[in-house]
Amino acid sequence: MSRTVTIVGAGITSAAAAWSLARKGWRVEVYERADVVGGHVRTEWLHGIPYEPHGAHIFHTNDDEVWRIVSQAAEFVPYRHRVVIRLRGRYLSWPLQAGEFAALPDFTDVAAELARRPEVPDRTNFETYCISLLGPTLYAEAVRDYTVKQWGSDPATLDTSIAEGRVGLRRDGYSDMFRDTYQGWPRRGYTAVVESLLRSASVHLGQTVTLDDVPAITRPGDPVIVTAPLDDFCSEPGALDWRGVRLEASYHPEVVYAQPAMVVNEPAPDVAWTRTVETKWALPELSERPGTVVLREFPGARTKHYPVADAAGANRRTQEQLCRRLNEYRRNPLIPAGRLATYRYLNMDAAMRTGLEAARRVLAC
Ligand SMILES: Cc1cc2nc3c(=O)[nH]c(=O)nc-3n(C[C@H](O)[C@H](O)[C@H](O)COP(=O)(O)OP(=O)(O)OC[C@H]3O[C@@H](n4cnc5c(N)ncnc54)[C@H](O)[C@@H]3O)c2cc1C
Repeated sequence: MSRTVTIVGAGITSAAAAWSLARKGWRVEVYERADVVGGHVRTEWLHGIPYEPHGAHIFHTNDDEVWRIVSQAAEFVPYRHRVVIRLRGRYLSWPLQAGEFAALPDFTDVAAELARRPEVPDRTNFETYCISLLGPTLYAEAVRDYTVKQWGSDPATLDTSIAEGRVGLRRDGYSDMFRDTYQGWPRRGYTAVVESLLRSASVHLGQTVTLDDVPAITRPGDPVIVTAPLDDFCSEPGALDWRGVRLEASYHPEVVYAQPAMVVNEPAPDVAWTRTVETKWALPELSERPGTVVLREFPGARTKHYPVADAAGANRRTQEQLCRRLNEYRRNPLIPAGRLATYRYLNMDAAMRTGLEAARRVLAC
């Protein structure tokens, strides 16, 4: 008789774990709070134009196995991601390019500041680290106010991990956002990827699961993979800090594209949103078709999109306590996986990797 694994949540982490275990003959029961699958990576369509209600998602990875899994689950187009930032009324490359500033007369102070940067960045906190990388002017204009909007906190209270790999100055003129070996966007959107990976699982939609529900939906000893936030799962709302975003969509029937790239960052403090997203850029077959969807991304929503890496480490300690509660549960093995349950700022490929690792732990149960 096949064994049963239960998975809480139906995002990309759950999908990777479910796919892996179903292939090994496990019966997979997935419980999802929402009435659709996909979690944060969900794609919607309006008049044939894709848009992403939780923000722009670009698949980029150096993980051969993860790429093989997603690209066998769905067709990917070879989209290369470009981001621009609006500074002093101009669209400039993001990450910032040293060469672009050299050509701008109103940024002459920047070159001198860049020459004075320390050889080793100051890792005291997010702010000291970014100033070491960009100098005070570029930090103030491109990063500081954006960060205050995004995190609702003084950047000096945030950890450097939030900036690492995301903030920097390029000198090589390379203008794609990512350098990973594999990059793309799924032609039918991410919901189709998740649905394809979950095709052998039984998915129960509209079902919120907490630790108290585990006895009702599992047999003793059956493993449970948890991709829900652990403060919710352990019924301790508010134990962890989260940052959420709200996206507001608008349809523009007359224009082919409404902005110069899929993502435009808006660091100015007097603009309420942090960026605008036009996912249509991912699909070249739409490049001459009128009609587009643009989403404005507003920070500060009550959703759980981003774990908060505070410089003092308070959230990390709470997360460790919640993990201990899962470890101490005797009736079933409870295995956290994914961005929410591990309270880590994971990209899709890394989230899928945690799903595959969780599946390996299930096989060892
Ligand atoms: C704005 C934004 C942009 C991003 N851009 C990129 C990008 O370009 N590239 C990239 O690689 N990554 C990107 N990411 C990261 C990516 O979204 C995550 O890595 C990925 O979605 C994590 O998947 P997950 O399955 O772990 O979590 P989720 O997608 O959050 O899935 C968890 C699921 O669990 C459900 N759930 C929660 N609690 C319960 C409960 N108690 N009971 C039952 N179900 C529950 C939720 O409804 C959800 O469906 C971005 C993230 C954000 C927020």
